[in-house]
Amino acid sequence: MIVFGSPSRYIQGAGVLSRLGQEVATYGDAAALVVDPIVLERYGAQMADSCAQAGVRLAAFPFAGECTDAEVQRLAGQVGHPRMIIAAGGGKCLDIGKALSHRLGLPMISIPTAASTDAPVSHNYVMYDSSHKLLEVRHLPRNPAQVIVDTQVIAEAPRHLFVAGVGDAIGKIYEVEACVNARGRNIFSANPALSALALARACHAILLDNADQALAAVDQHRPDDAFEAVVEATILMSGLAFESGGLSISHSMTRGLSSVPQYARTLHGLQVAYANLVQLRLEHRPDAEIQALIDFYGRCGLPRNLVELGGQPGPGDIRAIAAGTMTSPHINHFPHGLSIEDISDAMHWLESTRLAA
Ligand SMILES: [Zn+2]
Repeated sequence: MIVFGSPSRYIQGAGVLSRLGQEVATYGDAAALVVDPIVLERYGAQMADSCAQAGVRLAAFPFAGECTDAEVQRLAGQVGHPRMIIAAGGGKCLDIGKALSHRLGLPMISIPTAASTDAPVSHNYVMYDSSHKLLEVRHLPRNPAQVIVDTQVIAEAPRHLFVAGVGDAIGKIYEVEACVNARGRNIFSANPALSALALARACHAILLDNADQALAAVDQHRPDDAFEAVVEATILMSGLAFESGGLSISHSMTRGLSSVPQYARTLHGLQVAYANLVQLRLEHRPDAEIQALIDFYGRCGLPRNLVELGGQPGPGDIRAIAAGTMTSPHINHFPHGLSIEDISDAMHWLESTRLAA
């Protein structure tokens, strides 16, 4: 059995936030907006006007910053009886929106304000405890109803978030291919869909062709065709690819990297970017192919080794990362079995070769 999941509608373009009201009116006349305080300050009036024109009452609830059960409970006690949850902000803000919509049984509308991860289209969300430690990954019964991506908003977000999004997306091709070859399962616990594999390949090609020009557009805060293409690849294609195609070593490594303090605080997409190189080494890919990816990373500003990810590894760090990686549910989505030593060896190789130099 294959399963392919997706939002009902994905809307992307410069200025599309002004269409918010007409897009969401189909779900009812009252919406609760869970929103990053800075996003509320910048775009709150625009969103409220758009909703008012479409006859939708929009009540805003600033997000306190951490995706915990206590925060879900706090928000659930405040929102009253809306017909939908709209979340506008970064990854954790979208996750709290998903958690709230899950708890209240309401449709979820994602408005990512940075293209930093593959999460906005997915039915996954991550809960943390009050000390910011990852508690568990949960799943909505359905994907978000709508994902609305205003590329003018994305172009005004910090550059490093955009770069992280490229890092999260560029290696989906390797992860989905590995999962398919290993007969692994996708995030719906079903067989990977070939459509997801096709999307992962297209995502990779689009990023290689357009990332340089898109980064120039980020610096100008002016979305152009290359920028639009990269945003679609990092948010839509990458999200659909991992969820219906499956994950492998790169995302498994985020567990290990998050267990070592100096790499734990780096952005998810940067962790994944580094881990893509480890996965390619574990696949015994030719040095030239790894070098080509390293060259691309150099142009984008993505980490090519642990030093660039967060600093020189301390004694035992590499082994600890490898051991943490082995605890991931995606670790067996790989054509051959792996050990802590295999992963440590690949990491040591990346630190020592300096292909990038
Ligand atoms: Zn990811």
